[in-house]
Amino acid sequence: MLSSFLIKYAEIGVKGKNRHLFEEALVRQIRYALKQCEGEFQVSRNQGRIYVDALSDFDYGETTERLQTVFGVSGICPTEVVEDLGFERLCQDAVSFLAGRYPEKDRSFKVEARRARKDYPLDSMEINARLGGAILDAFPQMRVDVHKPDILLHVEIREKIYLYSDILPGPGGMPVGTNGKGMLLLSGGIDSPVAGYMIAKRGVKIDAVYFHAPPYTSERAKQKVVDLARILSAYTGPIYLHIIHFTEIQLYIYDKCPHEELTIIMRRYMMRIAERIAKETEALGLITGESIGQVASQTMHSLAVTNEVCDLPVYRPLIGMDKQEIVDLSEKIGTYETSILPYEDCCTIFVAKHPVTKPNAGVIRKHERNLEEKIDELVETALKTKELVIVTHEERESMGFDTALEEKV
Ligand code: ATP
Ligand code: MG
Repeated sequence: MLSSFLIKYAEIGVKGKNRHLFEEALVRQIRYALKQCEGEFQVSRNQGRIYVDALSDFDYGETTERLQTVFGVSGICPTEVVEDLGFERLCQDAVSFLAGRYPEKDRSFKVEARRARKDYPLDSMEINARLGGAILDAFPQMRVDVHKPDILLHVEIREKIYLYSDILPGPGGMPVGTNGKGMLLLSGGIDSPVAGYMIAKRGVKIDAVYFHAPPYTSERAKQKVVDLARILSAYTGPIYLHIIHFTEIQLYIYDKCPHEELTIIMRRYMMRIAERIAKETEALGLITGESIGQVASQTMHSLAVTNEVCDLPVYRPLIGMDKQEIVDLSEKIGTYETSILPYEDCCTIFVAKHPVTKPNAGVIRKHERNLEEKIDELVETALKTKELVIVTHEERESMGFDTALEEKV
């Protein structure tokens, strides 16, 4: 018997004329996910189904785990593939399939046949009935239950015959690459990686920007962000991580503006710079890990003042979530352990004791005028000296200092 996986997908099934684009994207993402697994696989599309066929030995646990990171996959059915050598032989194959998978036979079952090939000599009803009979002959302790069977044995008649009875849950969502690109403001914290995950789950390709403030933030803090991007990239595919050197801008704001407004003004500059990179790289929106009320810079008032500097939409998928819900999700996606490593991020160093919680946009704009002399130049320099790291799930490739990104790769 050959092993394979039948991949089920939900939402993308309803996309009408665009369906094949969604399926192709899903196949691409499955191939990307499997590239990092032991073994050789063939991924193919056939009549609204996606099959992953193992062409060599493979690690079952690792393979299913990787398939469970592919957005758009709603279920993964581990399948045995047998040659069509006549119905008698199929009965034997079905019996050995059940014998192998279910040592405990005191269970109910139902056979559900599907003919993708109409020239098969029996129709699905006949297959169900006769195969059911053969199984009962082989395992008298089993019984048929057509309403709530313990085991639902699927038999799909195609060129070959596919047998499966289990469905492992997939992550759901839509395949990455079917919904444009977003620019994630990725810090080393708990929230922003989760925000990136949630938006990528809707089919959005993710690039990221990190604001680095050496020597106030260490190389290790930067490495932590790269590590977080790498964990995310298992779900999202390669991430272009733009690292902006933010120290000069922060110090200048520190020098010229009231300290209780530092965070909010700094956040406005992060958004402005992120938007510039987004526009240069054709990202269609910004993504942040903000949640209403979490900290002073995330009150409704602060968010409004931060938001006003951008024309692009800002997506904040965690906006209504409690911290614990975000923590739970970060544990589930595997970013939590890295996020809680204790390296300082650039916001914590410049935080005032009593930051404004209800900033007034007019007042903030007025204080930003104190920056007029040098800020444009500092922003341009930050953009020019930006570092680009292309983060993939496996290895990291640093492109060094670079501004003309997309042509390079
Ligand atoms: P997180 O856990 O994501 O760090 P936080 O609760 O620490 O969030 P803030 O520091 O107010 O919140 O940041 C709010 C959002 O701004 C972050 O979720 C992230 O999207 C963005 N952000 C903050 N600091 C940085 C940074 N150094 N580089 C890039 N983005 C940042
Ligand atoms: Mg943070």
